[in-house]
Amino acid sequence: MQIIQHYPLKRLNTFGLNAFAERFCEVKSVEELAAAALPPPGSLHILGGGSNILLTADLPGLVIKNNIGGINIFEEDDDSAIVAAGGGVGWHELVLWSLHKNLGGLENLSLIPGSVGAAPIQNIGAYGVELKDVFHQLDAFELATGNMVSFDAQSCRFGYRDSVFKNECSGKYCITKVFLKLSKHHQLRLEYGDIRRTLEEMNIADPTIQDVSKAVIHIRQSKLPDPEAIGNAGSFFKNPEIMEGQLLDLQKKFPGMVHYPTPTGTWKIPAGWLIEQAGWKGKRFGDAGCHTRQALVLVNYGNARGAEILDLARRIQESVVAMFGIHLSPEVNIWGTEGVKMP
Ligand SMILES: Cc1cc2nc3c(=O)[nH]c(=O)nc-3n(C[C@H](O)[C@H](O)[C@H](O)COP(=O)(O)OP(=O)(O)OC[C@H]3O[C@@H](n4cnc5c(N)ncnc54)[C@H](O)[C@@H]3O)c2cc1C
Repeated sequence: MQIIQHYPLKRLNTFGLNAFAERFCEVKSVEELAAAALPPPGSLHILGGGSNILLTADLPGLVIKNNIGGINIFEEDDDSAIVAAGGGVGWHELVLWSLHKNLGGLENLSLIPGSVGAAPIQNIGAYGVELKDVFHQLDAFELATGNMVSFDAQSCRFGYRDSVFKNECSGKYCITKVFLKLSKHHQLRLEYGDIRRTLEEMNIADPTIQDVSKAVIHIRQSKLPDPEAIGNAGSFFKNPEIMEGQLLDLQKKFPGMVHYPTPTGTWKIPAGWLIEQAGWKGKRFGDAGCHTRQALVLVNYGNARGAEILDLARRIQESVVAMFGIHLSPEVNIWGTEGVKMP
């Protein structure tokens, strides 16, 4: 394990933003992680695939890229298997591994960029499934003490794009291993988005988990901009939830307002719809922009600075508040200038 000074992060974040880490290293084991992180070096960032960060400036201190690998079946019975994967394993690599073993539960989460270790941070989700639906347990290295700690599902306090690691445990742990409970008798989730229609178009009447994964990959590739082609971090904002009274008031002014019920009795409004209504879709300022087909995705057309994308995000936030009285919270983690926070 080698610590490198003034390391370029451009290739390590999917926005393709140009920023440097004061110091940088890659770790392949808990022992290497301990050697790099202890004693705590002051400012410390744990980096996975860099697909959910916005770099607004060079980073002081140390950036540790988690490359802890390994996937194996930890235990199993006739119905299910507990699969353990290192935090540095690519998320989609784990999905493909599970499909190869005919273990179900991850097929709807196919092709989400990033690492296994980051998946619990925001409880990744897509096409009606969230990480919490298959989560069993995780192992984490406590950065202040070097102790290894286990978190079960309850202590992770998963919510919509949220967990304890985005709140009181933010920046305190490096997730080194994740354990997922995958099924041997599959229950397909086809009702969300275009999955069923895509399977029909593929002439598949009796789909397997592998077919569902293929359908999800097909839909994602047709809808989401590929970060290899145009820098982005997926959805920039979370979909806001509002109370019924506010929805009824807003519907008087905006009868076409798209809304979905949540299990807690609130209503979810697609952030992309709000941003589009506020007139931002396809807008471009220099190399920072709002994607032409997906208003929820902010993009770097080439040489945008993180601060320009942050400025655009703030202007979008303000105009959505002005138009609808709804606050958009960022899904993306903002790194850089100390104190840069986006409520
Ligand atoms: C095109 C595109 C599509 C996307 N689609 C989806 C989607 O459908 N659903 C969805 O939920 N997300 C989606 N995302 C967001 C992103 O893929 C996920 O949030 C992913 O889990 C981020 O993983 P990462 O390894 O890249 O994390 P990074 O961007 O490297 O880090 C994100 C945060 O997690 C922390 N972190 C990373 N690894 C660890 C670790 N081992 N221990 C502790 N903290 C850690 C970092 O410090 C940072 O705060 C998309 C992104 C892109 C670019």
